[in-house]
Amino acid sequence: MKNLRTEIIKYSRMLNSTKLSALRSGNISTRYKDGFLITPSGKKYSSLKNKDIVFVSLSGKYDKKNGLPSSEWKFHQDIYNNKKNAKAIVHAHSTNATAVATHKRGIPPFHYMVAMAGGHDIKCAKYATFGTRELSNNILKALRDRKACLIANHGQIAFEENLTKAFELAEEVENISLQYITSLKLGKPKILSLKEMKKVISKAKNYKKG
Ligand SMILES: [Zn+2]
Repeated sequence: MKNLRTEIIKYSRMLNSTKLSALRSGNISTRYKDGFLITPSGKKYSSLKNKDIVFVSLSGKYDKKNGLPSSEWKFHQDIYNNKKNAKAIVHAHSTNATAVATHKRGIPPFHYMVAMAGGHDIKCAKYATFGTRELSNNILKALRDRKACLIANHGQIAFEENLTKAFELAEEVENISLQYITSLKLGKPKILSLKEMKKVISKAKNYKKG
C-alpha cells in the first residue's frame, strides 16, 4: 500500500507540474482492497505525505482520524462500484477541457484520437454541485461505454486500469480539448463518420492487445 500512496502523491504533483490542475483542485484515486485510496481534502499537492492519502471503503466509510478524503470522493466511489475495469481515476480542472465543458458540450469525432476515451465522442456530464450523488449520477451517464468525460462547468475525469494510464488519458483529453477549441476558431470542423470511428476504435483495441 505504501507504493500506491507514493504513486498517488507523485501523480498529484504532476497535476500541478503538467498544468492539468492548479494548487488543490482535481483529485486522484486508485482502487485498493475493498475500497480506494484518494487524495485528501484541502491540502496542496506539494505538501502531501503518505499518511495524508485517505482510504475510503466501497460503501463510503472512512476513518476521520486519518483526515478527510477529497470533497469529491463520492464520484470516485460510484465509478469504482459501477465500472469493474476502473482501477485508477484522475479528475482535473484542466483549462481546455473545462473551457469546452463550460459550454455544456462534449467533443465530437473531429479527430480520430477522440476514440481514446472509448467511443466515437467524449460526452459532457450535466452540471450538479460538486460532491453530490446527483453529480455522480450525471458522470456515470456520460461515462457509459467510455473511460473519460467532461463535466459541465467543472472539468474532466478519466479512469483506466492503472494510474499511469488514467493520467495519460486525462492529458489526452486536455490535448484533444485544446485542438477542438483551436479548430473551432476556423469555423465548424469537419467530423469523421461513425463508420470510420468504429474502425478506429476496433484498431485501438487490437493495438492495445498487441
Ligand atoms: Zn472537481
